Amino acid sequence: MLAANFLGEKKVAIVDREIPAIKSDEVLIKVAYTGLCGSDKRLFFEGTEVVPGHEISGIVVRAGTDVNIQIGTRVIVYIPLYCNSCTECNAGNYNRCENIVGLIGWQIPGGYEEFMAVPARNVIPINDSIGLDEAVLLLDTIGTPGHGIRMCIKAIGDNVAQEVLVIGCGPLGLGAALVLKGMGIREIYAYDPNPSRLKLALDFGAKAYNVQGSRGMHMVVEASGQEAARKMALHAVRAGGAVLLLGENSNPWTIVPSPEIRRKDCFYIRSFYFPPKEVQENVTLFKNNRTEFKKLISEVGLLKDIERMHVDFCEGKTIKPLIKLVNDAL
Ligand SMILES: [Zn+2]
Ligand SMILES: [Zn+2]
Repeated sequence: MLAANFLGEKKVAIVDREIPAIKSDEVLIKVAYTGLCGSDKRLFFEGTEVVPGHEISGIVVRAGTDVNIQIGTRVIVYIPLYCNSCTECNAGNYNRCENIVGLIGWQIPGGYEEFMAVPARNVIPINDSIGLDEAVLLLDTIGTPGHGIRMCIKAIGDNVAQEVLVIGCGPLGLGAALVLKGMGIREIYAYDPNPSRLKLALDFGAKAYNVQGSRGMHMVVEASGQEAARKMALHAVRAGGAVLLLGENSNPWTIVPSPEIRRKDCFYIRSFYFPPKEVQENVTLFKNNRTEFKKLISEVGLLKDIERMHVDFCEGKTIKPLIKLVNDAL
């Protein structure tokens, strides 16, 4: 089977590997689609020993002896390698596992390969009403912002979450905008210095945020990870509101104290991924607005295109490109 080897310095080699063997508690997935993600960029620049790719859909083609799952089940892959026995796991909050040993696509091989072995408890079945390409959106594009937004609403109360700003109109920010729209948020504002990305948010019904004029957002979703955007978020949120820090980069998160920051009575929320118990609700959000969500899938390419697709993605030319894996050996 073919797999992508991220060599670093924007080079990816396609290599031939053995189809992985599975343990008794694992399944073998024939990967259908894997989505590119901003968090892969560092691996693209620096290289990694492990096959990356963590927004994965596919079909179960083999199951370990201890696994009770039908061959042919269509699934998405849930990446936290959770313990299944701590307090958080017992509550179904696997994204909060106290003994997490890693993530699929970082510590064990991910989806930029044709077949992958994963623990059976890390797959979520998806029924026929959702295409395997669409199913990828249920992960980082809908699942991650959906969970963070629900945490914010819980903090501030849903009756007041009516003016929301989304900063950064990449896949995460646009996913957040559509999730907010699906949840019935009336006023969604968007900001992105890149006009073509901002336009997508405006096409979805968001209003352009006026940095000088607008103030007092009930919720600000920071989806860029940029220092300036984090500052903007803290400034834009109103007292009693919530800033959701979803964007990531490798630099420290610095908050410079000022009277405005010190005296603002508000929530800063950092969320991570999502618990599987939210997937069904996210499926409903997706189905209610399939046309707009599908616009986020900006390109479908093959494994041989992976290097060029990452270059385009890093340059901001694409939103959520998918790699289609097509090995019919099993
Ligand atoms: Zn991701
Ligand atoms: Zn746990």
